[in-house]
Amino acid sequence: MLEDKNQERTSLAELGEFGLINHLTKHFKLYSSQTAKGVGDDAAVIEASEKQTLVTTDLLVEGVHFDLSYMPLKHLGYKAVMVNLSDVYAMNGVAKQITVSIAVSNRFPLEALEELYAGIQLACDTYKVDLIGGDTTSSTKGMLISVTALGKANKEEVVYRNGAKPTDLIVVSGDLGGAYLGLQVLEREKQVFKVNPQSQPDLDRYTYIIERQLKPEARKDIPELLKELEVKPTSMIDISDGLSSEIMHICTQSKVGCKIYEEKIPLDPQVISTCEEFEIDSTMVALSGGEDYELLFTVSINDFDKIKGNPNLTVIGHITEENEGINLVTRANQELALKAQGWNSFNE
Ligand code: ADP
Ligand code: MG
Repeated sequence: MLEDKNQERTSLAELGEFGLINHLTKHFKLYSSQTAKGVGDDAAVIEASEKQTLVTTDLLVEGVHFDLSYMPLKHLGYKAVMVNLSDVYAMNGVAKQITVSIAVSNRFPLEALEELYAGIQLACDTYKVDLIGGDTTSSTKGMLISVTALGKANKEEVVYRNGAKPTDLIVVSGDLGGAYLGLQVLEREKQVFKVNPQSQPDLDRYTYIIERQLKPEARKDIPELLKELEVKPTSMIDISDGLSSEIMHICTQSKVGCKIYEEKIPLDPQVISTCEEFEIDSTMVALSGGEDYELLFTVSINDFDKIKGNPNLTVIGHITEENEGINLVTRANQELALKAQGWNSFNE
């Protein structure tokens, strides 16, 4: 179906490690004046600043985190950067640099890595971050990709998971559940393709949710928007594992409870229609489906006027005392205790 039928296959052995690194990285621009040395020496050099440095890493493993039968390599490169930048924005910071480490088996030709790096480069150019280093090695089977992102924030601007207070409002950016449903559609098409390789999938009805899965965008705009609105969240986290497990992280670390209102959870119409088609509950998908990379945060109730009506933000509930527990208020006005069913347990 979506398999890359690359005609050219240049074996990695032809270039050698140094030739390969140079080939893959030579077209990257540097954006930050604080990047004193990027790729090419024993270590990158970053100018120190008054600000605090944020560091975050994610490791993606073929067969565990991605499936190359429907994930084009360019998208994989882009997404591997996004998941890291998202963590920097979730600290209310500005992402500045990344390192990229890869392990690849000899099943991958140079052209495949060029695709991967085209995605990484698109992410760097779009988000104005510098690729400053990494490591390259072989693997006996499959591909591994690890990205580390570095960011900056003024000390007083950094937002942790542990600052939520009773009466704070719970806010989410964008909408939820799309990435998980996009994956369901792609998985289904993969099965169809296995049975009938001639089949041409009609994915027009699913463009938004497939894009949410294959080309997620980190919410760089949200820390910028909050600064403009003069709102500093009391706590923040990015939604990589589903709303349920993320709100639990905030509540446990802040030692508070919460009420989330089912009817307030923002859903795209395509999420709703695809849930109907798959006969799954859209709330369940928003709570437990992963990889939306939206931001979940809490703000003081005094900031309500500043955020209300903003099309990027939805208030979905409020923080309570710890002893009230972590609850979902359903459309039928029933209170259910939320469970930490992130992405993983949803898959089981
Ligand atoms: P060393 O042997 O000192 O680890 P390497 O040969 O691994 O050096 O790396 C040489 C330079 O290329 C370093 O700047 C390193 O950070 C960078 N580099 C290596 N692999 C990658 C990669 N996959 N992506 C980006 N930069 C890389
Ligand atoms: Mg090395």
